[in-house]
Parts: sequence; structure tokens; C-alpha cells
Amino acid sequence: MRDGRPMHIRDMFEKHRTTFSFEFFPPKTAEGADSLFAEIAALEQLKPTFVSATYGAGGSTRELTRELVVRIKRETSLTPVPHLTCVCQDDRVVGEILEQYAREGITNILALRGDPPAGMEGYDPASDHFEYAAELVKFIREFGEKGNHPDKRGFGIGVAGFPEGHPGCPNRMAEMEHLKAKVDAGADAIITQLFFDNRDLYDFRDRCELAGIKIPIIAGVMPITSVKGMRRMAELALGARYPAPLMRALNRTDGSNEAVRRVGVHWATEQCRDLLDHKAAGIHLYTLNKSTATREIYRTLGVKDSLALA
Ligand code: FAD
Repeated sequence: MRDGRPMHIRDMFEKHRTTFSFEFFPPKTAEGADSLFAEIAALEQLKPTFVSATYGAGGSTRELTRELVVRIKRETSLTPVPHLTCVCQDDRVVGEILEQYAREGITNILALRGDPPAGMEGYDPASDHFEYAAELVKFIREFGEKGNHPDKRGFGIGVAGFPEGHPGCPNRMAEMEHLKAKVDAGADAIITQLFFDNRDLYDFRDRCELAGIKIPIIAGVMPITSVKGMRRMAELALGARYPAPLMRALNRTDGSNEAVRRVGVHWATEQCRDLLDHKAAGIHLYTLNKSTATREIYRTLGVKDSLALA
């Protein structure tokens, strides 16, 4: 927030050398929401630049995502950024969601294509109104250009980037063209898929520069906190490589959750330290709705909050 108003994503990078943001997913129950808001209260003290809320596959958490974002906006000092996917959704539905967010004072959106819900037989993306995220970015930009948002720049728009490549596009040269298409359509920043080897991020950053992509790249970092969580992430973030030194460190443990968590949080902290050294535009921490690992990362970095890094 700035002067009591939520900040447009473009302004964030003027204010912060490195932005720090946290990602949550919408809880399905009232108890889940209460427990998340207890974690959010702890994380609020770290003064993140923004926090984001995911959108379930095929729009399955449409209402829950909106409720979470609105509650964060009303009850905390944080700037919430909803994720919005366009798979299986038409322009009317997406238009309604944008109108709601504009009314509720939301200033930024992470625009994604999304993946179809698991088990959806015979799904053909070409039958969707928006086939790729670039079309959703254009739609959101035009929504702002028509004067539908109180900020005359319209919504700030983030898009996804994949340092190790998106599993759906084996042609890595074409992939950079697809990313450039999202930027040309109006994206203001890129948030990356999680990765465990910073060299992947630095090479991606260089390839973006060579492709003429000049918007800030926010690095996605996920502290491993359990073996189960790691396996789940390997399924969700398809293509993410678990480097041998990380696997060796995990193999040295007795396999208990506490030992795995210590190795995972240490690894993520080192990633963050190195990203700060390499002047990353931003760091986006996948919190899995818990605050402990994130707080430990700040403590080990020796900083009180994100503003100490601004
Ligand atoms: P796109 O940019 O449309 O790309 C999808 C694929 O199509 C890529 O392989 C791309 O190279 C290819 N492509 C793009 N344009 C063209 C073209 N013109 N011709 C041919 N091929 C093309 N998913 C959710 O469901 N909910 C979430 O909340 C969510 N949050 C995410 C947050 C982050 C930071 C990231 C990195 C991912 C997130 N995802 C989420 C996952 C994401 O939706 C999927 O990985 C999806 O498959 C790709 O989305 P995209 O926006 O990158 O799609």
C-alpha cells in the first residue's frame, strides 16, 4: 500500500531494489481460512511488497480466490494480487471477475492460461475463448484502456515464466517468442516457476534480454518443508529439476520431516542470498500457506523485513 492506496506493480519496482512477495492458495474451509489468517498475521510483519492468491485448475476456486483476496485487502495492510486463469472460461466470466476486482480496489492481476482440471477427457484448448495467456493479457489491458479501472493505467499485469522451460513447449526458441507475445500484449512483470538452481534463473534472465524482454523478472523460490510436499511439487511444477547437491543433502538426513525441512529452508535461504547478490528484481516465496519457513529465511538473511532490502 502507498498513501493508503494499493500499489500498481509498475510502481513497486521503482520503490524496491528487490521486491519480496508471498504466495497463498485459497483454503476450502472456514477453519482453513482462520489458520491461514493466523499465518498471514505473522507474515504481515515481514512487510512483503505484495501477496498473491492462486486460482484452482479450470477456475475451480473462482469464489474462494476472490474471498481470500478481498479479505486480505479489508483486514490487512497487504497488497493482494489474485491469479486469474482463462482455461475453460469465456470472456463474459473473465469480464465479470475483472469488474468485481476493479470495484474492490484490486490493482494487479497475475494472468495465466492455467491447466484444464485433471481427468477432463478430450479437452481442446483451441475451443476456449482464450487459447493462450497472451490473449488474456490483451483482454485485461483493453479492460483498463476502456476506463473500467480506477487507476488510469488499468490493472498491473503479471505473467508466468519458466526458467527451465514449460513442459508443454519442447521448442525453447518458440517458447521465448510466446513469452515475448505476453509482454507485447501488455504484461508488466514476470513471476517464474519455482527452480532450485539459480543458474537456471540467470540464464533465463539473459535469454529474456536477448529476446528483447525488458520487464522485471521475479524469481519463484519454494523452501522444501517435507518429503511429501517435495513430491507434490514435483508433480505440479512439472520439469523442475532437483539438483544433485540438494538431493545429496536430503539423502544425508535421517528422512524425518524436521531434518528435511532444515535442509530445504537452508537451501532456499542460500538461493535468496545469491539472488539478492545478483540483483534479482524480485523474489516470490511459495509459502504453502505456512509462515515458519519464510520467517526463518528472513531471520537467517539477518533482515527484519522486506523494507530492509528495499
Ligand atoms: P501460456 O503463456 O499461454 O503458455 C502455455 C503453453 O503454450 C506454453 O508451453 C507456451 O510456450 C505455449 N504457447 C503460448 N503461446 C503459444 C502460441 N501462440 N502457439 C503455440 N504455443 C503457445 N495454474 C493455475 O491453474 N492456477 C494458478 O493460480 C497458477 N499460478 C501460477 C503461478 C506461477 C508464478 C506460475 C509460473 C504458474 C502458475 N500456474 C497456475 C500454472 C500455469 O497456469 C500452467 O503452467 C500453464 O500450463 C501455463 O500457463 P501460462 O500462463 O504460462 O500459459
